[in-house]
Amino acid sequence: MMIFRSEGGDSNAEERLSRSKGKIAMAKKLRIVCSACGSDNVRRDALAVWSVEAQAWELAAVLDCGNCEDCECERRLVDVEVADEKISLTI
Ligand SMILES: [Zn+2]
Repeated sequence: MMIFRSEGGDSNAEERLSRSKGKIAMAKKLRIVCSACGSDNVRRDALAVWSVEAQAWELAAVLDCGNCEDCECERRLVDVEVADEKISLTI
């Protein structure tokens, strides 16, 4: 009983901590863009598993296959740092 109580309390505290930490960490965001046209209107195949606890589908794996909505075909997706992009855009 005590273990369950402390676990619940800890997870809440950890959640709050990770949320406040997340704001700082968010300074460096990544965008996934199409390697061909640079659009971020991209999708990726993934596998989801049903979580009984969360009562929702949870992402189990992200597959290599990527699709660009603008090119309308299978493309390689690349990571771009949002911070770097902002700097280049404001010049
Ligand atoms: Zn594209």
